[in-house]
Amino acid sequence: MTDCLFCKIAAGEIPSKKAYSDDHVYAFHDIAPKAPTHVLVIPKKHIGKLADAGPDDRALLGEVVSRAAAIARELGLDHYRLVANNGEGAGQTVFHLHFHLLGGRPMSWPPG
Ligand code: AMP
Ligand code: ZN
Repeated sequence: MTDCLFCKIAAGEIPSKKAYSDDHVYAFHDIAPKAPTHVLVIPKKHIGKLADAGPDDRALLGEVVSRAAAIARELGLDHYRLVANNGEGAGQTVFHLHFHLLGGRPMSWPPG
């Protein structure tokens, strides 16, 4: 997608603080961290939000989520939260699917 912030970040057209990259997955540190560790883990393929993922995306979603767990392990996080905001009402502001990997502080439940 040409006019998507996270597509441009994944393609290296907009700078980011990279945490991980392979053929399908990109991860980078959030520009406005909400916890001591706040990494965004995204598919390189443009999917607007989780609800837009189709049956053909199942393997890709598995790669993104298991990669998030691997990144957490590599960053030394035992306790963390993995969040995908789906839609404006849930707090989504960037419409390219991303999982927030948050850790490094105690977290309350339920989220706001
Ligand atoms: P959401 O509100 O779930 O769509 O999350 C979007 C996230 O993207 C927010 O936590 C923003 O701080 C983050 N963000 C926006 N622009 C950038 C950027 N250029 N680099 C890194 N993170 C960004
Ligand atoms: Zn995109």
